[in-house]
Amino acid sequence: MKPLAVFYILVFYIFIQFCWWAYLLVDLNKEVYSHKIENVSLRNPQASLQKGQDEMLGKLHKRWIMIGGEGIVFLSLLVLGAVKTHKAFKKEVALSKRQKNFLLSVTHELKSPLASIKLYLQTLQKHDLDKQKQQVFIENAIKDTNRLNTLVENVLTATKIESSSQPLFFKEEINLSDAINDIVTKYSQSHANKHRFETHIIPDVHAIFDRQALSSILINLLENAQKYSEENTLIIVSLQVAGSKIVLHVTDEGNGIADDEKSSIFEKFYRVGNEETRRSKGTGLGLFIVKYIVEYHNGKIHVKDNTPNGSIFEILFNK
Ligand code: ADP
Repeated sequence: MKPLAVFYILVFYIFIQFCWWAYLLVDLNKEVYSHKIENVSLRNPQASLQKGQDEMLGKLHKRWIMIGGEGIVFLSLLVLGAVKTHKAFKKEVALSKRQKNFLLSVTHELKSPLASIKLYLQTLQKHDLDKQKQQVFIENAIKDTNRLNTLVENVLTATKIESSSQPLFFKEEINLSDAINDIVTKYSQSHANKHRFETHIIPDVHAIFDRQALSSILINLLENAQKYSEENTLIIVSLQVAGSKIVLHVTDEGNGIADDEKSSIFEKFYRVGNEETRRSKGTGLGLFIVKYIVEYHNGKIHVKDNTPNGSIFEILFNK
């Protein structure tokens, strides 16, 4: 906060200096004009003193208006500049805090699935487990690998978004209905033990899209739906056509998102709540990537409240 305090002291100093110089200028003008009036009356004592004074006073008032006008413009620019700088500074501070949290959580997110995969493999190697137990261990290790995979994919995509000047996605005409069905089926098969999944997808909706990107959108939204809702609740993916729009919904019955957080959650590294009290794991990259991909395909995304509780992520594309 120190640099901001120095900045405000400077702005305050400029303001005081400005008022002081404005006062001096007005005062100086007054003096000059009174000397001029004296001069006129000395050089031409017959001339009407009143007329000369009125003329000079008119000119003096015009000068004051000019000084006042310029002062208002200058002060407005000063206030505007100060407000903009303050906002930019606050934004930078928040971003760097989020970046720090991101590094902490990414390290944790990388380490914990790796540790548990190692443990599963070591147990399988050392103990002669029955087939059923082996299967459970292998499934758990696959889940952890999937988690790692999503994390690495997200970090890579976010880096590419920031640094690449080349197109990131390969757009082609795809059967959106089949592709979504496919992704959700595969996803729900590997996560069905914790949540119930439902799809309402109208058949044969076609769109120009990158397959990998579509998968990234759905996996991120489905993972969030799971992460932020209780086990055994319902997650619905629906694809509908409304007029000229293709509408994709991912609905959950979780905690929901407060109205004042609804636009921030799409920012890079943004996570609701504070680091100390937050229970869920994450990096704050998922929705940033989802939004980027949706907009890259000329779509729009927003989040609405589900009733009685939970969230609906709504994505709209042109047909
Ligand atoms: P991450 O899940 O890794 O924290 P995201 O960018 O995917 O990052 O999400 C940003 C934030 O939005 C999350 O931290 C969470 O607070 C909130 N959020 C996202 N999806 C949901 C959801 N389905 N229900 C409730 N909150 C959500």
